[in-house]
Amino acid sequence: MDQLHLLWEYQLADVEADKMEASIKRSPTRQKLVKYRDYLLEQQNVMKRIEGEVYTMADRLEALKDAIKMTEEQLRSLQNKLESDAPSTSEGMQQYISDAKRFMNNINAYEQEIKRIRKDASDRERQQHDVKVRAAKAKSEFDKLKVAYDTEYKEKSKELEALKAVAAEKAKPVAPEFMERYKTIKQHSVPPLARLFGDQCGGCNMSLPSAISRRIKAGELVECETCGRLLIII
Ligand SMILES: [Zn+2]
Repeated sequence: MDQLHLLWEYQLADVEADKMEASIKRSPTRQKLVKYRDYLLEQQNVMKRIEGEVYTMADRLEALKDAIKMTEEQLRSLQNKLESDAPSTSEGMQQYISDAKRFMNNINAYEQEIKRIRKDASDRERQQHDVKVRAAKAKSEFDKLKVAYDTEYKEKSKELEALKAVAAEKAKPVAPEFMERYKTIKQHSVPPLARLFGDQCGGCNMSLPSAISRRIKAGELVECETCGRLLIII
């Protein structure tokens, strides 16, 4: 058997191993597992976002409480001033009233905001709870699937190892430069070898010049002009 045909024999085994490898990756159990994993990651991110929002709310609550305290003090000192030194003019009285009103309005606005934040915070708590429940359900599904997948993976890996061993055996008589060429072509065209049917490349189905078949028969290594596969006549 010449090198090209030995390489063809190797390709047959290599294709089988690749198919098994692809089927392991395409496994529906694996894909479901990936989906659950992505979902869990997403829930973790939602959780982190909510936690961040809750922290911000807590900070804002503290700031609002401080602001209320400060404004109440201002209001008190205004009252003290009125008691100890009441304004003698109506303008002075008006000023006092408008200051007091402003302080009270501010306190009112702070309190409204506190109310809103408390409501938001309890919404967030509910959301956190829902996310936790959803994530726990997904995690338990994930764990179940993982057990099934591990078994499946073990079996398929064994098969893959066997197929790879066959391919390795077939690779032994192939000269290194042929194997090198095979691997180079495999980077852009799979499988790298294609049969020539008449004047047609079996890899990409393009028609090739009729001289090509003669050149191959004469022992020349010829690649398809279109797909770059190494052509073989069987
Ligand atoms: Zn081709």
